[in-house]
Amino acid sequence: MRKKISIVVPMFNEEAGILRFLDKELLGALEVLPYATEVILVDDGSEDRTVEKVATAELRKKFPVRLVAFSRNFGKEVALSAGLREATGEAVIMIDADGQHPVSAIPEMIRKWEEGAEIVTAIRKTNRTKHKLGSKIFYKLMKIFGNGRIREGEMDFRLLDRVIVEEFNEFTERNRVARGLIDWLGFRQEYVKVEIKGRESGKPSQSFRKLLTLAGDSFVSLSRTPLVIFGYLGLLITFVSGVLGLFILVEQYILGDPLGLDWAGAVAVSIFVAFLVGIVLISQAITALYISQIHAETKNRPLYVVDRKKSWER
Ligand code: UDP
Ligand code: MG
Repeated sequence: MRKKISIVVPMFNEEAGILRFLDKELLGALEVLPYATEVILVDDGSEDRTVEKVATAELRKKFPVRLVAFSRNFGKEVALSAGLREATGEAVIMIDADGQHPVSAIPEMIRKWEEGAEIVTAIRKTNRTKHKLGSKIFYKLMKIFGNGRIREGEMDFRLLDRVIVEEFNEFTERNRVARGLIDWLGFRQEYVKVEIKGRESGKPSQSFRKLLTLAGDSFVSLSRTPLVIFGYLGLLITFVSGVLGLFILVEQYILGDPLGLDWAGAVAVSIFVAFLVGIVLISQAITALYISQIHAETKNRPLYVVDRKKSWER
């Protein structure tokens, strides 16, 4: 029996270009594959005629295709999660509905998968996103603060082996960023460089605000360094102002100012205030550590992930 490949397509207000994408691009790319295929469309609460459009598509006669329609807009990450849950193939490819992800990369992704990679991620050759600076900063920060697995230019255009999908479906956390979680899982990841195209039609719905939230979620879900950093700042402030305060106390008030520095009262007060600020920052960081523990517990991630292909008995 031929192996099956599932294609997951999240859609939000894509009436303008969805048929062209499915009919002209995706179908063409799938037809020539020596695999069985299924297409899972996830409508993320479109407010336009996306659902009607795909329902009347010729597509349904040619291919096993399913539509999962949300009751409202839940966001792309949730749409992808739903698609992965519905997919039944040995491998699942997630691809945007707006034609920006080149379907021509699919054969190479599949080849790398057949060669043993559990995750094949498309990486854009040139950064042509609107929010270039923002994405640069995000990846830099992620490199410094994150767990180091994330690579610049990674896209939501990926192939996932069944084992990845099964593990992913186990995640129960609500604030999720699919790529971050997939990278977190480990396994063998390969990359395919692609030239990302302009949006064919319609307008991008991942607004700057949505992307900012996404970046924030990525951060919070994958790194706790930001929490701790203020603690270190507090330590520094407390230490410096403490030493300075002690010096003034001894030099001026106990020894009677032998160096003739004649500290003003306001200086002493400012240093004392800085000292208190430092203590507040430290205690905040301590609280934050407790919260990050709670956060980790509530995310309820698997403790570890076993690679069954590599493991063995006897
Ligand atoms: N999308 C979605 N829900 C949303 C926003 C976007 O399912 O709330 C889909 C959208 O239809 C497209 C993909 O996610 O297939 C990427 O969206 P978009 O092109 O707006 O973002 P960008 O290309 O800037 O990442
Ligand atoms: Mg797009």
